[in-house]
Amino acid sequence: MKVVKPKGPEIFDIELEKDLLAKNRNLAKENRKRFDHLKITAIDVMGSIGSGKTSLIKALLKKLNMGESVGVIAGDLTTTIDAERIREEGARVIQINTGKECHLDAHLVGQAIERMSLSGIDILFIENVGNLICPGEFPLGAHKRIVVTSTTEGPYTLIKHPYIFRQADVIVLNKIDLAKAMKLNPSQLEKDSRKINPQAPFIRTNAIKGTGIPEILRSLKFKT
Ligand code: MG
Ligand code: ZN
Repeated sequence: MKVVKPKGPEIFDIELEKDLLAKNRNLAKENRKRFDHLKITAIDVMGSIGSGKTSLIKALLKKLNMGESVGVIAGDLTTTIDAERIREEGARVIQINTGKECHLDAHLVGQAIERMSLSGIDILFIENVGNLICPGEFPLGAHKRIVVTSTTEGPYTLIKHPYIFRQADVIVLNKIDLAKAMKLNPSQLEKDSRKINPQAPFIRTNAIKGTGIPEILRSLKFKT
């Protein structure tokens, strides 16, 4: 194997990435200003594919029972499946299809909130693209960030992705009903969670049944 010393273009790549992240942070601040101006609490919901982000949002909507005063931005590569599932709960939904992009960014969310009618909305959930890597690096301007993982993802999810879990205000372990079948010890994941992010509550849920949903709403300081 030949080792090639990095030259100009590679340094340029790093600069470009720094620039991209800085631009995103500025746009996130703009989004936050807009949310604050409209008195909207925005929640970024991150987590891997199949962890149950949509099911969790549906369960939160059901419990909140606020109809169209809750909005949801559903981020997905190409489908509208999540948006349709969320619509069943009576929330106002807008879909962002990112194409090949593996995360939402503040620019996309800014465009969505421009197109969406936000009047009368008190709470806005933003379902990020299913991915435990880059969404953490792209704040969207949300007030709180939830990271969802599930028992079916095995015992190492938290320790393998410490960066995104450190960004979380709430850490959710979903599909708690399947822990036994998966031979998974939730207490070990909770220990990892405490180590990585001692401030964030670690909440065990079964989104389908509604277990743990009131705890999430309490930790987000919503009245139920
Ligand atoms: Mg989903
Ligand atoms: Zn990405």
